[in-house]
Amino acid sequence: MTFRACSRVACLEPSVATLTFDYGESLAVLGPLSGRKEPHSFDLCSRHAERTSAPQGWQLMRHRLVADEPGANN
Ligand SMILES: [Zn+2]
Repeated sequence: MTFRACSRVACLEPSVATLTFDYGESLAVLGPLSGRKEPHSFDLCSRHAERTSAPQGWQLMRHRLVADEPGANN
């Protein structure tokens, strides 16, 4: 497994999420770290993923990054 640092300048935290831009839909999608590096995508650490907001005129769709709630799904 390759270490992938956060894309933000001067941030050395490991990435936990990938932000992908769909230019056709003006949609920014924040989801779990993608398996490979894609064009138009940015890896982000948890702190920067939290702070991410969509550019003006864009929608931001957040997927749940980690299952952090106690196992009450059943
Ligand atoms: Zn970061």
